[in-house]
Amino acid sequence: MKQKRFILQETELPTAWYNIQADMPNKPMPPLHPGTKQPLGVDDLAHIFPRECCVQELDTEHDFVPIPEEVMDKYKAYRSTPLVRAYALEEALQTPAHIYFKNESVNPLGSHKVNSALPQCYYAKQEGMTNVTTETGAGQWGAALAYAASVFGLESAVYQVKISMQQKPYRSSIMRTFGAAVTGSPSMSTRAGKDIITRDPHHPGSLGTAISEAVELATTTPNCKYTLGSVLNHVALHQTIIGLEAEKQMAMAGEYPDVVIACFGGGSNFGGIAFPFMRHNLKDGKKTEFIAAEPESCPKLTRGEFRYDFGDEAGYTPLLPMFTLGHSFKPANIHAGGLRYHGAGMIISQLIKDGLMHGVDIPQLESFEAGMLFARTEGIIPAPESSHAIAATIREAEKCKRTGEARVILFNLSGHGLIDMSAYDQYLNGDLMNHRVSDEDIRQTLKSVPE
Ligand SMILES: *Cc1c(COP(=O)(O)O)cnc(C)c1O
Repeated sequence: MKQKRFILQETELPTAWYNIQADMPNKPMPPLHPGTKQPLGVDDLAHIFPRECCVQELDTEHDFVPIPEEVMDKYKAYRSTPLVRAYALEEALQTPAHIYFKNESVNPLGSHKVNSALPQCYYAKQEGMTNVTTETGAGQWGAALAYAASVFGLESAVYQVKISMQQKPYRSSIMRTFGAAVTGSPSMSTRAGKDIITRDPHHPGSLGTAISEAVELATTTPNCKYTLGSVLNHVALHQTIIGLEAEKQMAMAGEYPDVVIACFGGGSNFGGIAFPFMRHNLKDGKKTEFIAAEPESCPKLTRGEFRYDFGDEAGYTPLLPMFTLGHSFKPANIHAGGLRYHGAGMIISQLIKDGLMHGVDIPQLESFEAGMLFARTEGIIPAPESSHAIAATIREAEKCKRTGEARVILFNLSGHGLIDMSAYDQYLNGDLMNHRVSDEDIRQTLKSVPE
C-alpha cells in the first residue's frame, strides 16, 4: 500500500540542532562594526540580542547544539510536522519524479517562524529578561514571536510596517490575541519614529523604519531584547529541526533526496531544510542538489553581488558579508512579503560563493500558478512565499518528465496562505503582474553598498 504521510513519535524527535558552520570548508566571514570595520564578538552583539543567540551566531566549532528541554516541550505542541508524498501533484504533472514536501504550515501560527521564536524567547527568559521586541512586515514573524513570548511569560512589543498593517489586518489581530503590543511603524513612540514622521508625515513604513524603532526600544528599555526572524546564523540553526526530522522521515519512506528546494527570503527556512542534508554532501560524498527559490522582483542570489552591506534599509545594523542588491533596493510590492529582502544570510552567501547550492528566480505569476495547482491537487493553500518553492519543484519535475529520470525531490512548505486570500483574489481576478528588475536598477542600488 502507498504511504502518504510520515510522522515521528515524540520519542523520535531530534534533540539537537545542526550547526553547519562547523562543517563548512570556508567559514562565513564575520559581521563588522560599521564605523571601525572590526569583527564583532559576542559581547558586541549581546547588547541587542539574547546572549546565547550571539554565542550560537558565531559558533564555528560545535556541529550539534542541544535543544533545551523547555524548548523541546514547546516544540511538542506541533512537532513533528508531517513529511508528505505529493502523489496527486506528481500525477497532475505526469512526472516520474517522486515529490515530497515537509509541511511547516501545521502549527498554531501557520509558518516555520515559530521554530526560532520559541528558543529566542526561551533564552531571553533564561537570561532574566521581561520583554522582547521585534519588527515585522507581513506579520508572520511578529505573530510567531507574540505566541512564543506568551508561552514563556514575556511581554512582547512588535513594530509592524504601517502599510502592511493595513493590508494584512488579521496578522495584527493574531499578535494582539497572544498579548503583543502592536505599533504601526513609523510611530511617535520612539525617537527614530518621530524623526521619520517629522520629515515625512505620511511615510508608509518599511522594514527599515520598523527595525530602527524595535532596536531603539530594546536598547533603551531595561531587561528587553531584540529578536530577528531570519537572515542571522542562529535563526537558521534553530530551523534545522525541519531538515533533521525530514532526514528521519525520508528514511521511513526508504528514500533520500536528489534535490532539496525551499523559498528564499533571508534563508532561514531554506537553511532549515537544506543544511542537515548538505552535511552529507560535505561529509559523506552525497550529491544532492540544493535550490533556493527567490522572487524575480528581488533576485539577490541570482543577480546580486557578494559584498559587505547593511542588513537594513536605514543602515543601522552591522555590516554583513552577503549576496546583496544593495540595502537601498526597494522590491516591488509582491504578495510574497516574506521574500522582499535585499540580501542573503552570511552562511548561505558563503555556500553560494563556494558552489554548494544555487538560486533560481521565479516570476510572481508563475508562483501563483504553482500555488493554485498545489491547492487543487494536494488540498493545501500555500503561502505566496512557499509557492516559489512549489514553482521551482514543478520546474524540476518537468525536467524529469523530459529525461525520464525518477529523481527524488523534497521541498519545504514554509507556511499556509489562509491569511493571504486577498492575494489569491487578486490573482484570480487577473490583477497581478510580474515585476522583473532591470540590470540598470540593480547597478544603481548596488552603489548604496559601502566600499
Ligand atoms: C518569513 C517567511 C519566509 C521567508 O523567510 P526565510 O527566512 O527565507 O525562510 C518564507 N515563507 C514564509 C511562510 C514566511 O513566513
